Amino acid sequence: MHDYDLLVVGSANADLVIGVDRRPGAGETVLGSDLVVHPGGKGANQAVAAARLGARTALLARVGDDGHGRLLLDSQRTAGVDTVGVLVGGAPTGVALITVDPSGDNSIVVSPGANARLTPEDVRASVRLLAAARVVSLQLEIPLETVAEVVRTAHAGFGGRPGPRVVLNPSPPAPLPADVLAACDPLVVNEHEARFLLSDDPAGSSGDPEKWAKALLARGPRSVVVTLGGEGALVADRDRTVPVPSVAVAAVDTTGAGDAFTGALAWRLGVGDDLQAAVRFAVRVGAAAVTRPGAQASFPNAEQVAALPR
Ligand code: ATP
Repeated sequence: MHDYDLLVVGSANADLVIGVDRRPGAGETVLGSDLVVHPGGKGANQAVAAARLGARTALLARVGDDGHGRLLLDSQRTAGVDTVGVLVGGAPTGVALITVDPSGDNSIVVSPGANARLTPEDVRASVRLLAAARVVSLQLEIPLETVAEVVRTAHAGFGGRPGPRVVLNPSPPAPLPADVLAACDPLVVNEHEARFLLSDDPAGSSGDPEKWAKALLARGPRSVVVTLGGEGALVADRDRTVPVPSVAVAAVDTTGAGDAFTGALAWRLGVGDDLQAAVRFAVRVGAAAVTRPGAQASFPNAEQVAALPR
């Protein structure tokens, strides 16, 4: 009945990276390294992370009718993602212009491009993908009204049949409508996102992830996962809050670790894991991803995850 373990609805960007000795100030020009172009965007990253692990994954996204769009389609297909839901045209492909200096500090300008043109109407036109998925995973690099349309459609279900379970990573963080929050199972946040969502709550400034999880739960989601970098993650639902420790690895580059984590988590929920088991697996995927440079290039396959220490 379900064709997909996971449908990701979200962004697809080309990351244009130039290494510089020093990032330019206002009015300044500096010379940098050769340009490197990577496929990226949180939606595209999550879909690749899940598919590389073996998930039956589809992506609903929009790219431009240009070379960057073709790069993104290619990288999705190579990873095994079904791209039937990737719409083409309407604006140039989203781009992140990244300069990175020798200390690893970067400056980034994002042009959302086609991502900003993924509309609620596009969701309605692709509703069969939602009906065919066990889990739908969302982030906030596409219009909020589009995210809300996905969540409301999933929540309403299909002719008496429940719609997909909703996983949402509110990144970049933005205020969320109450019904969107209430549908999340789980809401997945890192420290920065937790603090943003709780900026009007003393718990937000407490520095205590358990307090963040409880305060976020009080906003309505069915469950909350707080990712804590090298510390692992915290899983919370109405009954309990459980820490899930990380795997000790030599971290090389954490770019995309959050996307690898969430893509893996959403997939495991789609194949029937309970939330704690799914987080235990996702923590291992996140740990494997930080041992190699890059975002999508660093995402592990199932054997690489299995090879990590227990
Ligand atoms: P990013 O923005 O770098 O993609 P994030 O800030 O959204 O990541 P993090 O909490 O930093 O999310 O990391 C997500 C998950 O990746 C963590 O829960 C953990 O499982 C894994 N992870 C991240 N950093 C490390 C590390 N240094 N060692 C082991 N695991 C890590």
